[in-house]
Amino acid sequence: MTHVPHKADPPRTERRIAVLGAGVMGVGITVLALGHGLPVLLVDVDEQRLDRARSGIEQELRMAQIMGSLPADVTTGRLETATTTDAVGDATAVVEAITEIAELKAKALAEVSARVRPGTPLISNTSSIPIDELAGHAERPAEVVGTHFMNPPYLIRTVEVIRGVRTGEDTMAAVGSLLTALDRRQVVVRDAPGFVTSRVLHPMINDAARVVQEGTASVEDVDALMEGCLGHPTGPLRTADLIGIDNLVDSLRVLHQHTGDDGCRPCDLLLDKVERGELGRKSGRGFYDYQEEN
Ligand code: NAD
Repeated sequence: MTHVPHKADPPRTERRIAVLGAGVMGVGITVLALGHGLPVLLVDVDEQRLDRARSGIEQELRMAQIMGSLPADVTTGRLETATTTDAVGDATAVVEAITEIAELKAKALAEVSARVRPGTPLISNTSSIPIDELAGHAERPAEVVGTHFMNPPYLIRTVEVIRGVRTGEDTMAAVGSLLTALDRRQVVVRDAPGFVTSRVLHPMINDAARVVQEGTASVEDVDALMEGCLGHPTGPLRTADLIGIDNLVDSLRVLHQHTGDDGCRPCDLLLDKVERGELGRKSGRGFYDYQEEN
């Protein structure tokens, strides 16, 4: 299909991305954008997170380039970091990847929406919060859209795009063109709690943890069965470690609150892990041990 340039469609050289949140996803999305030559302003309220993100981004960029998951012939974009959104006004797109707590996201979106130029897409990477709920906090709800990048975004080419009831045509066109520039394939879905991927995956991981909690099988055996018998690529519990168990619990809570589905109530084993700080790969331990990798 021929791509027709659109007024909300800046040429590659003029794209500037602002990413809010320098956690697991903010870092991965930044790597994806830098690796495609786009400059990124990465914002986090936590200076230590930004320090860790800078070295993490450098490592992940190098690894992704070696693995061939980023283009080899593109000059890496320039990275800037900040602890406030003061400089987001220049961005041609903002990607929000902060903690999965609706109030935090609402506040951040209200703030950036007052700073950016009209017509700038405000892209939320939320796992579960309905896009229209978030759009209600922006100055121009038509500019808010969901793009659910998966972890790590530079390895997973398919992106779930969520169109809220108020998301405008220009915003859909701009996000489509950005994803094309990032060599991602979009699948557009209707707005709903957890959309498609989290609505299906997160309760399944919750059940996998519940099976371990009930003593039916070990962590390793649950993953071995789901991989070996059902073709799950990494096993649900290793996937939980990759997502971050704290983020998974936040997402399950959003799903439970919005759907009333008891299968979405985070099980005790997940809650215990969060309480013990065993958050998965990012903390060095979750269902598995990653101390040697960190
Ligand atoms: P994370 O906990 O690793 O990082 C969140 C970051 O947001 C932290 O560094 C925190 O300091 C920062 N933050 C909090 N409030 C902020 C604010 N007002 N401004 C700027 N930064 C702020 O979380 P994550 O796993 O990267 O998830 C981020 C978002 O992406 C969540 O909405 C999550 O549901 C979604 N998501 C996560 C995954 C995954 O696999 N982890 C996959 C898809 C989508």
